[in-house]
Amino acid sequence: MKSFLRRLSMIAGVALLTAVTLSQFAAASSFQPDYGTENNTATGSDGMIVSAHPLASQVGLDVLESGGNAVDAAIAMQYALTVTEPMMSGIGGGGFMMVYDAATKETTIINSRERAPGGADPEMFLGDDGEPMDFEDRVIHGNSVGVPGTAAGLETSHNMWGTIAMHDLIAPAIALAEEGFPIDDFLAGEIETHAEKLERSAASEVFFSEGNPLAEGDMLVQPDLAHTLRMISEQGTDVFYNGEIAEAVADTVQEFGGTLAVEDMQKYDVTIDEPVWGQYKDYDIATMPPPSSGGVFLLQMLGILDGFDLSQYDIKSVEKYHLLAETMHLAYADRAEYAGDPEFVDVPVEGLLHPDYIEERRNLISLDSVIENPEAGDVMPYQEDFERQGAVAQPGDRVDGQTTHYSVVDSYGNVVSYTTTIEQVFGSGIMVPEYGFLLNNELTDFDAEPGGANEVQPNKRPLSSMTPTIVFNDGQPVLTVGSPGGQTIITSVLQTILNTYEYDLPLEDALNEPRIFTNNPDNYLHEEGIPEDVISQLNDMGHGFTDEPAPIGNVSSIMYDPDEGIYTGSTDENRNGASFGLELE
Ligand code: GLU
Repeated sequence: MKSFLRRLSMIAGVALLTAVTLSQFAAASSFQPDYGTENNTATGSDGMIVSAHPLASQVGLDVLESGGNAVDAAIAMQYALTVTEPMMSGIGGGGFMMVYDAATKETTIINSRERAPGGADPEMFLGDDGEPMDFEDRVIHGNSVGVPGTAAGLETSHNMWGTIAMHDLIAPAIALAEEGFPIDDFLAGEIETHAEKLERSAASEVFFSEGNPLAEGDMLVQPDLAHTLRMISEQGTDVFYNGEIAEAVADTVQEFGGTLAVEDMQKYDVTIDEPVWGQYKDYDIATMPPPSSGGVFLLQMLGILDGFDLSQYDIKSVEKYHLLAETMHLAYADRAEYAGDPEFVDVPVEGLLHPDYIEERRNLISLDSVIENPEAGDVMPYQEDFERQGAVAQPGDRVDGQTTHYSVVDSYGNVVSYTTTIEQVFGSGIMVPEYGFLLNNELTDFDAEPGGANEVQPNKRPLSSMTPTIVFNDGQPVLTVGSPGGQTIITSVLQTILNTYEYDLPLEDALNEPRIFTNNPDNYLHEEGIPEDVISQLNDMGHGFTDEPAPIGNVSSIMYDPDEGIYTGSTDENRNGASFGLELE
């Protein structure tokens, strides 16, 4: 692995400095990287890169070593991830890039969330019988494809902070797509699991060979994607939103029953958002505001739990998991009623985070009983000019997506914390023929049953749970954190922060400590490592944990120790992610 990365790194480094001809990358295809978990955690003195794919991390490190800043690196990494983690994120999707600018000390979010097309309507996920379509049918329908925002978001971030030419930042991704790279066990597993979805579109030409799904060790070569990336590199995003790529996207979506049109691509706009801020102990937390539910409910849950002095209980105790589960139930009940796109609905952020409201919610929780029917609270006394609309019950067949989070800190002190997605693994499974990229199914994040804050409307952004976060101490960024995992994202970020600042675990242990998730009394998940007798005591109390542990999300994080001046990067062991420390001469 190391020699592969070193050689690719040398080649990519040259690309950055001299706009190399792609033939210089040809040698890369003869390498066999040894994917594994040995690079999950690393330290560095001058900066840090963490992502779920070692080749993307290496591309980012090369940018930093060439003098680029964290945003330059993040742009190059997103393009590289479009190639190396095509099932998780890419130019067919959207995301939230949080940037701390060390020069201005400001934290800003480039919001490239997908938007519903003009032809979308609140009933588009209802079947002929007026009932919501099954989730698995919604996922693969053209109506699930939102107008992709990633390329526009990257361009916006480049205009604001970029120091290296976009052309050079896309070059490593073009090379990886053109020359190919070996498929790891994780990608191979996902191709096999999602084969049926991929067979329905041009994706079958990319992820199959002679009718069989590509397997671990096979080279993934994506010439169409390389061509698309080269077009964006040479012509800018105009070709994507106004030119032939926009036409191809619209044609493809319409072929799968959707309404997305060229005009929707032309109209797409990124927003530049401010984080929602909160406090936990001595730390200030910058996190993701609506249209994500992530930040608001992360802060609400931290606020509720702060009153329980959680670390008086063992980290694997019944009390800790019980208090977490009860807090989650209350927060997700509020989420279901109040959260949506603030361009379209009033989201009562102030009320949901008001200390008195949080205390009211905390007082509902008891140490020895389970709230049987957790309901949304009444925020009206805590939020001016706000009227409750009520929650609309949704079908329970939603399966949470899995995408990707990565972080960068550069030697100038800039920080990027970026969660990026095409929603489900391989998104809608719909690939744009001849252009080689997968389209998201992000619009399944809207409510299927209309009437609530998160119902479908044209140009609206579906409610997200993505929670890119930066934690500060005395104005100094000390932690980045984020995860994929749909609704589980919020509680994965929550537990990482608690493990770090409540239980004082070292970063790697904070990530690997088993997590739980529950959003209502009928839906519980837990990771391996929680003692069986603890699970059965929780269930005796009235919780509903199952017998089957499973991984939840894929947290990645960078921590800074200001006393030592050392960065630690870490990423969950359930993918072959890599942290690379930056060491300048
Ligand atoms: N669609 C999900 C959301 O916006 C993200 C998918 C994932 O990372 O799991 O919340």
